[in-house]
Amino acid sequence: MIETKGYAALLPGSLMNEWNFERREVGPNDVQFDILYCGVCHSDLHQIRNDWFEGIFPMVPGHEIVGRVAKVGTNVSRFKIGDLVGTGCMVDSCKECESCRDGEEQYCENGNIQTYNSINHYTDKVPTYGGYSKTIVVKDDFVLRVPENLSLPGVAPLLCAGITTYSPLKYWKVGKGHKLAVLGLGGLGHMAVKFGVAFGADVTVLSTSESKREDALKLGANNFIATNDQQQFDSVKNSFDFILDTVSANHDIAEYMGLLKTNGTHICVGLPNDPSQIPAFTLVSNRKSLAGSLLGGLNETQEMLDFCSAHDIVSDVEVIDMSYIHEAFKRMERNDVKYRFVIDMETL
Ligand code: NAP
Ligand code: ZN
Repeated sequence: MIETKGYAALLPGSLMNEWNFERREVGPNDVQFDILYCGVCHSDLHQIRNDWFEGIFPMVPGHEIVGRVAKVGTNVSRFKIGDLVGTGCMVDSCKECESCRDGEEQYCENGNIQTYNSINHYTDKVPTYGGYSKTIVVKDDFVLRVPENLSLPGVAPLLCAGITTYSPLKYWKVGKGHKLAVLGLGGLGHMAVKFGVAFGADVTVLSTSESKREDALKLGANNFIATNDQQQFDSVKNSFDFILDTVSANHDIAEYMGLLKTNGTHICVGLPNDPSQIPAFTLVSNRKSLAGSLLGGLNETQEMLDFCSAHDIVSDVEVIDMSYIHEAFKRMERNDVKYRFVIDMETL
C-alpha cells in the first residue's frame, strides 16, 4: 500500500484535519499522480455535512484534481511519468452498460464510482478518498490529459465546474441565436458564462448578489439581473430559451421558470436537497421543460479540456492554503467566492 496524507472530516460536519491513510498499490491499469492543486466544489461542503445522504467517514473531499504522473502500471500506454494529468468526479464505472458504451459513464446504470465518498464495488470494495491529499491512484481510463498551455490552478475546476456546465450546453446545443440565463454566479455559474459566451449565446446572469454585476459583464455576459429586485426580475419575464440553474441552496424553481419563453428549458445542475414541487401549470402553460444534467463523460471531459486549451479558458480562482479550508467553506456559504477556491497542495 502507498502511505499518504490528506485533509479529512472524521465525522459529518466536523472540522477537517490532517489524516494519514493508504492508497492501493499501482495496478497494471493504474496511474499514480502527485496532486498539485485541488478545487473546492460546493459538493464538498454538501457531502461533509451529509446534505444528500449518509456519507462515508473519515471523508477526504476533492474532485477537481490536477497533478503530475509519478508512476504508471505495466499496461498503461497513454501516460508516462511527469505528464500533467487530472481526475474529476468519477474514478470508475461498469464500462458495459448502454450509458458507458455511449461514453456517458456519469450515467452508468450499475453506478459510477465517485472520486470520494463511494465504495468501489468494481474493484477493492474500499472507500474512495478525494483530492485534498498528496497523491492518488486512478484507473487510467479515468485520468485526463491536462493541456500544458493553461494556468494550472485555473485548470483544476474545469474537472467538475467546467465539465458540469459544458456538457448540458453541448447536449442542448446552446449557441448563436439562443438567450441563455445562468442562475447563480459561483464556481459552476462563472464557467457556464464563459462557455455560453464561447458558444455564441446571448448570456444573462441571474444573481442574488448585486456586487457581482461588474464581474458578470467582464466574464462576457451581455446582461445582469439582480433577482431580488422585483423590477429587474420582471423585466426579463418570458425572455430566455434556457436557464442553467447552478444554485446550491433551496429556491423556487417555478418562479424562475416564469423567465423562460414558450418552449424554454430550465436545466438543473445545482443540487440543493429540497424535494422541489413544480406545479404542472408551470410546465403546461407554455410547453416548458424541466431538465437536469450530471457532470460529463470521459471523452467529453477531454474534449472540454482541449476546447479550453484552444480558447484559452480557465476558471477564475483564489488559490488558498489547505488550512484555509474552513474559512473557504464559510465564505462559500455566504456566496463570497470569486469564483473558485483552489488548494495549493504544497501547503498540506
Ligand atoms: P457555489 O460556488 O457556492 O455557487 C452557488 C451560487 O448559487 C452562489 O454563488 C449564489 O450565486 C447562488 N445561490 C446561493 N444561494 C442561493 C439562493 N438561496 N437563491 C438563489 N441563488 C443562490 O457552488 P458551486 O460549486 O458552483 O455548486 C453549485 C451547485 O452545483 C451545488 O449544489 C453543487 O453540489 C452542484 N453541483 C452539481 C454537479 C452536477 O453534476 N450536476 C456538479 C458539481 C456541483 P449568486 O451570488 O450569484 O446569487
Ligand atoms: Zn464538484
